[in-house]
Amino acid sequence: MEDQVFMIWAKIDPAKVMQASVWFSAHRGSGMSVANRYQDCRDWAARGDLVEMIPTLHWLEIPRLLDRLPGFALAGTAALTRGDDPPTAQHYYCERHGLFNPQRPGCLACSQPWLYPDLPGVPERLHNPWRTG
Ligand SMILES: [Zn+2]
Repeated sequence: MEDQVFMIWAKIDPAKVMQASVWFSAHRGSGMSVANRYQDCRDWAARGDLVEMIPTLHWLEIPRLLDRLPGFALAGTAALTRGDDPPTAQHYYCERHGLFNPQRPGCLACSQPWLYPDLPGVPERLHNPWRTG
C-alpha cells in the first residue's frame, strides 16, 4: 500500500502577509526569496485562497498539526485534503472526517477505519464546504 499524504491548508491573514512570506520562503519555498514570496502571499491573501501549509504522512498527527498552524493562518479556515491537490480540485468531501478526497468512490478514512480512526473534534475545526454561517 502506498503511503497517503495529507495536506493541511489555510487562508492567510491579510494583516500578516510579511510573516507569511518569511515562513513560506523558509518552509515551502524551494529557494524562493522572501520578496518573491511576498508577492505570492499578498495575492493569496487578497483572493482568500486556501494555501498549502503542512503536509503529513501521519493521520494521527493531524490534531497536533492543527494546533501548530503558523500564526498568519486565518483562524477557522483550515482544510484537510488527501494528496496535495487543492480542496477545490478534490471530488469528494467527507463530513465525518472533514477530509477532501481526490476521487470517488469516496473517503479513504471511512474505507480503512483501522488505519484512519475518527479524530474527535477535528472535523469541527476544518473547513466544511457544506456548512453555512
Ligand atoms: Zn470519511
